[in-house]
Amino acid sequence: MRKAIVLLTGMSVMVACADAVKAPRLGDVRLRGALAEKADTFLDRRIVDFRGRDNIFEEARRAFVLRDDDECPWDGQWRGEFWGKSMICAARAADYLDDSVLKAWIVDECRRLIATKDAGGYIGSYSVMTNCSTPPSVVAAHKGACTNWNLWNRKYMIWGLFMAFRTTGDKTLLEAAAGQLEQLIDMVRSNGIRLEDTGHHTLNGMPTMSILKPTLMVYEATKKAKFLEFAESIVRGWDRADGRAPNFFRNAGSGKPLHAWYPQPERWAKTYEMLSCLDGLVEYHRVTGDRRALETVIVIRDNLDRTDGNSIGGLGISDRLLGAENFAYASTEVCDVIHWIRLNVDLYLVTGDDRYLDSVEFSYFNAFLASIYRNSGWTPLIVRDAGRHRHSLGQCGYAYNHCCVDNAARTFMDVASVAVTRGADGVFHVNMYQDATVTLDGVRFEVRGDYPARGRVTVRVVGRTADGADPAVVFRKPGWCPKMDVSRGANGVYALDFDMNPRLTERTVKPSSAPAAEAAATQKFGADRFVFIADPDLRKSLPKEAYATVQWGPLVLARSARLGTCRKELESFPSVNGKGYKASLKPISAHGVYAPFEVELSKPGAETIRTKACSYESASDDPASRDGFIFSVRF
Ligand SMILES: [Zn+2]
Repeated sequence: MRKAIVLLTGMSVMVACADAVKAPRLGDVRLRGALAEKADTFLDRRIVDFRGRDNIFEEARRAFVLRDDDECPWDGQWRGEFWGKSMICAARAADYLDDSVLKAWIVDECRRLIATKDAGGYIGSYSVMTNCSTPPSVVAAHKGACTNWNLWNRKYMIWGLFMAFRTTGDKTLLEAAAGQLEQLIDMVRSNGIRLEDTGHHTLNGMPTMSILKPTLMVYEATKKAKFLEFAESIVRGWDRADGRAPNFFRNAGSGKPLHAWYPQPERWAKTYEMLSCLDGLVEYHRVTGDRRALETVIVIRDNLDRTDGNSIGGLGISDRLLGAENFAYASTEVCDVIHWIRLNVDLYLVTGDDRYLDSVEFSYFNAFLASIYRNSGWTPLIVRDAGRHRHSLGQCGYAYNHCCVDNAARTFMDVASVAVTRGADGVFHVNMYQDATVTLDGVRFEVRGDYPARGRVTVRVVGRTADGADPAVVFRKPGWCPKMDVSRGANGVYALDFDMNPRLTERTVKPSSAPAAEAAATQKFGADRFVFIADPDLRKSLPKEAYATVQWGPLVLARSARLGTCRKELESFPSVNGKGYKASLKPISAHGVYAPFEVELSKPGAETIRTKACSYESASDDPASRDGFIFSVRF
């Protein structure tokens, strides 16, 4: 609901902006149907069932007990991020499931974490509290093989405690989050630490400065001026006369693709950390009403969508914004998909502009769900467009945690939170068509039809608004859909018929605008990030030319070993990109995959190519074997 609240602070007059649309309580949404089984199983294995949960949290908490992330002082680890990420997910899941037993456990677990606080009031995973940057001389001495995640880890710990407070209402958790934030700010100030120099030495402080969002959330709950001043200092750090990266405010209007803002995007343009900073700027707009912050994020989001969106619904190549438009293939760190969805959900809530939901839908049904292994509580690190995903056995010597798997559960709740919303004018918006039941302001919406495998959806609307009126409802027309018919039948049941627009989506690879040697280095970096050390066999399958994809509604389809397609055909399918083919799809039945089709690719005068394909997420959602090649979206 759009309303303005004027706040007077010591520094300025602020006009806080409430969101443009109202989202339901998470506990009043339940995702359903075949695709919701992934959510149910994932939440169960990692959060609800104590057998999985206790292993995960006991291991994650150990980082704060042992404080061994800086065992090697110049090459620090990030074990300390696991607890906070997992707690944010647990808190959101407790809201979604309305689970009072889980909420009670959350309070207990936070108290165990708080008990690791030392006499100086510090909770952290680095034994030396002030070890939060790497001096240039040390970087040079170790030839760049250095990193530091101390303040990034603390950001997640503070955020986890705050989300636990928000879910449980336990004020001691808010006091702990605020106390740690204050301790961090005091420590930074008293030691003269410049945030832009902290964290990994090539990232210009982005990991640390992404603390902007939790800082503002804690500020909103406490109204402590110190937190707002700290947030303002972070924002000023992105509006710089010296031009230091990422300088969001001054670069956004340059018209250049983000990956070309500075040379060597492989060094500075780390996707997840940058998206986390942008999410903080959206929150800054919410709290202060600063339009420039919001407009800057929107321009950058559109830039990324245009120049770094890849064929599987991810962003960039592996974990960098290298300019996916310059690459013939796609791979994305799962954290990057999670935060791309998060940013677009937030922009939708703040602006009410449903074009952001097209990005949410595309990334969720493809790259995100592909990362949720079936019947499992595990994800890979990187999802790829062909072969197999980049599996992880855990990070930093841990067995139950890695950066992506600890982040993933949140996305189900992010998507659930915008399934149905309500505008300031009282109109309800049905946005997402995966089977779901949502209650908002006393009106229940039952969405059914197994979308997006099928194109006919029914939405049953039960109840009346508070003033006794028949609820006014509008339905989002997805960007990929050329025609959507809505009809209203008896008993408040709407029928929606989507033209699922079966299509061959063709691509061109744009030449890089960087000098040749630099462009070649970026391409080499991308290829190395695609294969990683563990999967060198996949290098030979990297395409030199752009390929097309086959799409059904929002789904990217993949050829799959699960449909009986042999490895040779998966690896060496001839490209039809740019050759004038058309795709036609016929639904078939097949066990163990979602949305299977017979695919015909035809053009006049050429032999018709026939194959089978199914949703990319169900073609690829298992760890595969060490040298397996089980799917491909390349046509
Ligand atoms: Zn990750």
